[in-house]
Amino acid sequence: MTEDQLLRMATREEIRQFYHEEYKTREIPKYITKNIHRREFAFDRIGKGPRDRFNQFRELKYLERTIKAKAPFAAYSSVALYDDPTKRSGWDGAEMVFDVDAKDIPIRTCNCKQGEVCPECLEQAKEIILLIRDNIQELGYKNIHYVYSGRGYHLRIQDPELLQTNSNFRTELVNYVLGAEVPELTGELQHFIIPFGYSKIYTNWFKYTINHLDKNKKYPGFSKNLKNDIIKRKELVNKNQWGLVRGEIKPTRYDKITRSIAGIHKELCDTKVSIDLKRILRLPSTLHYKVSMKCTAIKNIETFDPFDDAVPNFIAK
Ligand SMILES: [Zn+2]
Repeated sequence: MTEDQLLRMATREEIRQFYHEEYKTREIPKYITKNIHRREFAFDRIGKGPRDRFNQFRELKYLERTIKAKAPFAAYSSVALYDDPTKRSGWDGAEMVFDVDAKDIPIRTCNCKQGEVCPECLEQAKEIILLIRDNIQELGYKNIHYVYSGRGYHLRIQDPELLQTNSNFRTELVNYVLGAEVPELTGELQHFIIPFGYSKIYTNWFKYTINHLDKNKKYPGFSKNLKNDIIKRKELVNKNQWGLVRGEIKPTRYDKITRSIAGIHKELCDTKVSIDLKRILRLPSTLHYKVSMKCTAIKNIETFDPFDDAVPNFIAK
């Protein structure tokens, strides 16, 4: 496996080869197969997106037969359960998903061009998913699964009390977990010096963001001067010397900085995915042909390495 073989687009022939020789439906996690007949499945047959929708499979063997026969460009299953997936009727709950795509991380430190991914930004995607995990766990959610999507990571929460929640609830939860709003504490009760609850979440993300900003790059909604003002004080931020940071920057500028940083936090994952109650997600076990990586259910997120655990044979050979 050489560097230039990695993360390249697969040919039609390689996709067919993958599904004929290597594909195993037993790599689909149990949480999908156990109620397979209640999920919607979708396929991208010609490389133009998942246009073949509303498929239902009563048993795993029928799904396997279809995938092997079609050798699709991509395959997906719904986060929701339905009484009738072919009509998406009788909605009966949906997993909540955090979707971090390496190509969309606003503060990635690599030199990837738009739409590209590399080992460095894939590693950063994992760091972000782990920080999200920490915040989710602090809220008490426990039933968490991870999937390597090919270009990033999905964190899927399946705690029963979350499955039936609506999009409004999920919007608030995602903003909370990502630190996507400036905490509403003013005066002496300054948010950075309250080391618990939402203030702590926001502060931790704030540090993460500052440490990944590049003074030569542009960030939407963040003026160059404001950005450089805070980058200059990175050391103070990392030492939690918030009083000094604040004292050195005019209050109006400081407010703008905290809001710009919150705006970056909001873009760390695809929030549309998190609040969509009928979303389809790439199916673990299948190929992400655009990067020649296997979408993979992860057993141990701490030790998972996509270049050991998610490379198909036609690349690894
Ligand atoms: Zn990169």
